This record gives sequence, structure tokens and C-alpha cells, in this order.
Amino acid sequence: MKKVNPLKIPSVCGVYAFSNKKGEYLYIGKAKNIKKRIKSHQTRKNLFVTDNIKIEEKDSEFEALILESQLIKKYRPKHNVLWKDDKEYFYLNKTKNKYPRLLINHDKKGLGPFVKGKELKKALEALRYVFPFYQYKKHPQKKCSFCYLNLCPGPDISLKEYQKNINSIFAIFSGKKKSVLNSFRKEMQRYSLNKEYEKAALVRDKILAIEKIIFEAKIMQKSSLEKFFRIKEKRIEAYDVSNLQGEKATGAMVVFLGRKSAKHLYRKFKISSNKPNDTAMLKEVLLRRLQHKEWPLPELILIDGGKAQLNIALKLTKDIKVAALAKKKNELFFNGQKVFLKDLPDDFAHLILNIRDEAHRFAISYHKKLRNKID
Ligand SMILES: [Zn+2]
Repeated sequence: MKKVNPLKIPSVCGVYAFSNKKGEYLYIGKAKNIKKRIKSHQTRKNLFVTDNIKIEEKDSEFEALILESQLIKKYRPKHNVLWKDDKEYFYLNKTKNKYPRLLINHDKKGLGPFVKGKELKKALEALRYVFPFYQYKKHPQKKCSFCYLNLCPGPDISLKEYQKNINSIFAIFSGKKKSVLNSFRKEMQRYSLNKEYEKAALVRDKILAIEKIIFEAKIMQKSSLEKFFRIKEKRIEAYDVSNLQGEKATGAMVVFLGRKSAKHLYRKFKISSNKPNDTAMLKEVLLRRLQHKEWPLPELILIDGGKAQLNIALKLTKDIKVAALAKKKNELFFNGQKVFLKDLPDDFAHLILNIRDEAHRFAISYHKKLRNKID
């Protein structure tokens, strides 16, 4: 990684890192366009943003994915553990069968950590065309449906060749692409020297395919969820309820216009019900908010909680999208789906967390004020 002037960040694909004055990495990320991504961190004033920025350019999204994983493993930057629980990282593992299958899961014995399971899956699927492996414990005697997709090597592959496929995949994900390609080049030369030209040509095609896949694979894709947020002037409201054993419970509403907080639109609600029941309190706050016909309706409401809170909000706000963020696992319930924040594009996940934190901060500050008045 090389240090860059924060005002002269190049628009390249690769990995970037913010560090503190001591040189400790605070956050490591990857992007198709590093300049754009860093700018968005700066605009949103992410906590880890500093002027100590290092980058490493990569030729492809695939290689950026691998480097990001290696650097996170080595440095464990404080803010990458944004999602707090390390267990949520993804790893590439193989089963213990004679003909092992490859799995993406949270077992740390494997290769990783990878931040997003979907990205790792895309990278693995891309490589699988050159290094096919089995889908099931026992391959049927005839071709299976994965055989027809060129993702499965079929029933006749030798154990040696099968293991070579698995080992090559692991080597590439360990950042050893060069040595994998070199071993295939040597194999190709051996065949040529023995005048086994057809075999040599097959190996050559394999080398070309590996290079092409690694270079072209689209790993970092934006989800249609993100599309929803791309519109700059969307009004997003987030709610938080704060209470101490039900005394002086308060509700807070923060408003974001696009990605920016609109502090002048924040509102506070003293909750009249004294029951320490989060769902009932949220209902009261939302009902009172909706009575204000003079406030424009939001495109999205973000609430703290799980399905119970989501259902209450959906009932009250028929034409408005609602997302609920469950604290413990950082799961987002949205559009009838449950997604982990980690699986969403970084930008969007950060935005959601920023809004959630802001609502929480605002609710607590108001709560303290109320308590002080009484004390
Ligand atoms: Zn098959």
C-alpha cells in the first residue's frame, strides 16, 4: 500500500485504508473507484476518515477482493468490525470428502475473512467454470444439472485432477494466482515438448480463461436496494424510543434528505404511555407523527427493532417503505426480506448505521434533558 495525498486520490480500482497518526489502520475497504468511495466516506464524515490514506491499485475487482481480505486478516482494523461480531465474516471452506465440495460459511478454519458472502460467492462461481467441483456428496453416474452448466466436472474426473481444481481455487483465493498460472504454463510446455499438442492447447485455453475470469469478473455489484437510495433528495425518517424503566419515555425522529441529516426537521415526542413496551411506544410516536399533515411524508422510515416493530409501522404507514434494523445481528428487514447489513453495499450499510446512530443519539440527548428538568 502506498501513501497518497488526500486531495489527489486516483480514480482506480483497488484497496484503500485510513490510518491514525500512529499508523494503525482504522478501516480498510475496496472499491471499483477508490476516489469516489473515499469522497463518499468524507462527505458522510465516517468516524474513521483521516488524512492518512494508503491505497493499492489492482487490475480487477477479483484481486481487490482478495487483497482486502488479506489486509483485514492481517491488521484487523477497528472500524471494519463495525458489525462488531467477527463471526459474521465469511470464509471459504471445503468438506472432508474424498472429493471435497466448497462451501461459503462462517467457519474460521477456512480461507478469509471476506466481508461479503455474496461477493465471495460471485468470485467462486466465476472460477468454478475453469475449476469445476461437485455440488453433491455423491455424484450420480450420469451427468448432473451442474455438469450441463460447466460447473461440475462430471462423474469421470480423476481424483488427482479434481484435487488440482480445488487446490487451484484455494491458491488463487490466497493471492497465489501467479504460481497457479506458472504451474499450468509448465504443464503446457511439457505437453508441447512431448508433441501432445492437443493437450497443450487445452491447458493454454485454461490459462487464458483464468486470466480472463480474474480480470473481468464483476464482483462488486450494486443491489437494487441501493438504487432506491441513489435519488438524492429522498426524505428518510428514523425513529428511536428511549426510556428508563418506562419513566419519562421519549421518542425521537431524525430526518435525512438523501444522505444528509436535516437537523432543523428533527422532532421530539414525550410519550404519554408509561408502559415500558417498545412496540407500543413506537406506535404512539408514529401515530402522532402522522397527524402532522404539514410535514412531508418520507419515502422511507427506519426503525429500531425486528419484525414486531416493522409490522406495527407497516400497518400505520401504508404507502411508505419501512425498514427495521435489529440491533443484535445487524439484520435489516426491508421489502419483505431479511438481509444482513454486511451483504449490502458498504455505502448503503454505512448510511443506514449513520441514520440509526443519529436517531439514537438524538433520543438519548432529549431523554437526558427531560430527566435533568425533574432532578
Ligand atoms: Zn455433475
